Amino acid sequence: MEPRRDRGGGRLTGHASRQSEWVARGPSWAATRWAAHGDRFSSTCSRDRAATRERIAELDDALRRMDAATYGVCERCRQPIAEERLAVRPFARCCVSCA
Ligand SMILES: [Zn+2]
Repeated sequence: MEPRRDRGGGRLTGHASRQSEWVARGPSWAATRWAAHGDRFSSTCSRDRAATRERIAELDDALRRMDAATYGVCERCRQPIAEERLAVRPFARCCVSCA
């Protein structure tokens, strides 16, 4: 195991800018990106790995909703979820008012 490097702040910033890309490219692209991240995280910190797996599971679910054409639509009120919300939570199931 290689020495752990502290890149927490930069990693968060990187993710935030990538997440807006998710909206443009769609969840299957995002899932591929996350899978690649999972590989890299697995050698650094098991907590990161667990968090990554959780996100991949959420993206899986987002993919299923995209297949069913319900991606980006609130599960409760059936209104489109705001792009700003999807940029922050690409796998959001409810709009801001229903969350
Ligand atoms: Zn709603």
